[in-house]
Amino acid sequence: MSDHNCIFCKIIAGQIPCTKIYEDNQILAFLDVHPISEGHTLVVLKEHTSRVDSTEPLAMARIGEMLPKLTASVKNAMGADGYNVLCNNGASAGQVVEHMHFHIIPRKTNDGVVKHWPAFQYPDGRAAVIAEKIRKNLAL
Ligand code: AMP
Ligand code: ZN
Repeated sequence: MSDHNCIFCKIIAGQIPCTKIYEDNQILAFLDVHPISEGHTLVVLKEHTSRVDSTEPLAMARIGEMLPKLTASVKNAMGADGYNVLCNNGASAGQVVEHMHFHIIPRKTNDGVVKHWPAFQYPDGRAAVIAEKIRKNLAL
């Protein structure tokens, strides 16, 4: 299914141009139009879903199947030594386009592209409480 208001659905439908990297019947990969490093690539499912947790596991598996080859091609083409694979889910997490997508961002040592995030330490006993809450929400 596609969403008529979704910019990525319009790209998939060929109504808006993109710089294509790869396409098959389920997946499209194309260059991000506002890259944070050269070669910054987006990988999307052709079917419109908004987030990881609202996407069918098998459709997600298809993205997982392609990521090793896509990340290798982006990294090697750009002469990068590393890369970030990011998926923002929800506005609070920085998601702007509500069509689930993975960013592949090629990285070089000391490129300064993504700064370290503000890590903290759990106080005593808190990690066990948090882990128990998450386990209770895990619907298998
Ligand atoms: P996010 O913040 O994870 O939702 O990222 C959305 C990404 O989509 C941003 O990095 C944008 O630069 C990118 N983007 C938005 N419109 C287009 C477009 N027409 N073609 C390619 N990339 C786009
Ligand atoms: Zn869409």
